[in-house]
Amino acid sequence: MNIKKGDQVKILKGKDRGKSGKVIKVNVSYGLVTVEGLNIHQKNVRAKNAGEKGQVVKLPTPLHVSNLAVVCPACGKSTRIGYRRSTGGNKERYCKQCNATI
Ligand SMILES: [Zn+2]
Repeated sequence: MNIKKGDQVKILKGKDRGKSGKVIKVNVSYGLVTVEGLNIHQKNVRAKNAGEKGQVVKLPTPLHVSNLAVVCPACGKSTRIGYRRSTGGNKERYCKQCNATI
């Protein structure tokens, strides 16, 4: 899993293919990522109590990581992410296009 909350990602498949947005939620065990404002699906919510109205709610649906690419904040391209040791000895992510630390 190399996508984190707050990352900018580009959608590669589905109806919002080609669009990019910010990651708002990551489900690591299922490999699912929710992108703010993208892959919106309508959900019809029925009235639970008498007197309430059923309504249509629009919610962003999670996408699988394999359908997403991280957009590098340094070069602005959708890129593959690599891992390396930083000078301090920590693991860090970097852009394979421009070598910038993400
Ligand atoms: Zn880059």
